[in-house]
Order: sequence, then structure tokens, then C-alpha cells
Amino acid sequence: MIQTIVVFIIIGLILTGILINPILVKRRRNRLKRRHLPPLWNAIVENNLPIYLCLSPNEIRRLQGHIQVFLAEKQFIGCRGLQVTEEMKLTLAAIACLLLLNERGQYFPRLRSILVYPNAYFVQETTSIGKYVVEERRVARLGESWANDQVVLSWEQVKQDINNWEDGRNVVLHEFAHQLDQEDGKAEGVPILKSKSDYAIWAKVMTEEYQQLCNDVLQGAKTVMDSYGATNPAEFFAVATETFFEKPHQLLSKHPTLYEQLQRYYQLDPVQWA
Ligand SMILES: [Zn+2]
Repeated sequence: MIQTIVVFIIIGLILTGILINPILVKRRRNRLKRRHLPPLWNAIVENNLPIYLCLSPNEIRRLQGHIQVFLAEKQFIGCRGLQVTEEMKLTLAAIACLLLLNERGQYFPRLRSILVYPNAYFVQETTSIGKYVVEERRVARLGESWANDQVVLSWEQVKQDINNWEDGRNVVLHEFAHQLDQEDGKAEGVPILKSKSDYAIWAKVMTEEYQQLCNDVLQGAKTVMDSYGATNPAEFFAVATETFFEKPHQLLSKHPTLYEQLQRYYQLDPVQWA
């Protein structure tokens, strides 16, 4: 009898925890969002996020709130002897949170830590050639996003991208777009959309635009988006996101339907910022 009561109490406590936890998380986040960014932090963001001062006062306030939540919830790990500074954390948080500006996603729920290397890092890559041969090679990487819990970045690349904001390439936007895509556990270029009916139009537009990019790249034609987007649909979404934030005018004029989809998804209109 006592054993049964204990089991019921434990189940009750677990269920209460499951129900209460989201409320506590929401409260903690709201508390963090209300805090103002310290002036020194604000100066760093102003310096390292080129479009920061183009945002509306409301958007700036919202971004500041998201940055505080991001910094409180994610762990930063310096690799190969790198000491992760306040500047690095704030810069990465600010660019990543640009994707969440209008409450898209849940602060990258699968992500726990951001690994920062001083510059490019090397990984061992294996590729199958035929049935019995596996080729192994060492390749340099500038960033990657893992569906389980990590994003890896090269700080040197992040700085380069900040200094060339309008070239349509940004490793932080790229890897965090992958995080949004991977939120449902799959990396296939389809992030979680607002309603069921959005998926059909997303699939139609993205497939057409992806095909067009593949054809243009094959024919050596000039493209607004980086040719890396033609690798697969997941890379297409990540590259399209980079272009949407860094070259919004060009994307809107050459690919209006793609721009519209991204505008709907991010609930943002970056052409207004330029
Ligand atoms: Zn990628």
C-alpha cells in the first residue's frame, strides 16, 4: 500500500514538474527580456552588428531582450586555447537572435553550446567510393551546426563576415538557420512553419527556387545567392537566409516569391533596414 502511494506521489511530482517547467521558463525569459542591455554591451553590439542602428526602436528593444535570454541559456566554449570574450558572446548572440527577432522559434531549443575556434578548424571526413572503398581526408571548416546540441564557428570567419555584411555570406546566420531547420530533428530545408497550410506553398516555392539555382550554377550564370545553396535543400535554406538578411534588395527584385516566403517565416522585412 505504502509503495503504491509513493509511486503515485512520484508520478504526481513528475507531472507537476512537466506542467510547471514551461511556465517557469517563460517567467525567467520575460524577466531577462525586461532588463536593459548595459551600455558597454550595447556599444559592442552596435559595433559588430552592422544593421543594428537601422532597426526600429521596437526591434532594437526586442533584440536586446533576446540577446539577454540567449546569453543566459547557452554555453560558449573556446577551442584550441581560445578565450571566449564578452565581445565574442555578444556578437554571436546578436547575429543569431536576429533570426528570432519576431519570436521565430524557441531560442534554438536543441542547442546547448557554441564552440568557438580562433580560425578554421579541421575535421576528418569519410566518403564511400563504390561498395568497398572508403576515402578519408582532412578538411577545413569555418562552421557547422549539429542537430543534437552544438554549433561550431570560426571567430576569424565571423569577424570577416561582419566587415563584409552586404556580400550575402555570414557563417553565423548560416549555421543558426540550420538550427531552425533542425528544430524538428531533420535537416531538409523545411523549418517549423506556423500553420499546416504553409507547408505546401513553402515546398512549391523552395523547390522551384532551388532548381533554378542548381540550373544557374550548372550554366555558370551569375546568381544573387551563393552557389553553395545548390548543394542540397538544407543548404539552400541556410544560404537563402544569409541572402535575405544581407542582400534583401537584390533578393526581392530577382526572387520576389522566395523573399516573400522568408519574410513570412521570419516575420521581418529587411529591405526596410537598408
Ligand atoms: Zn550549411
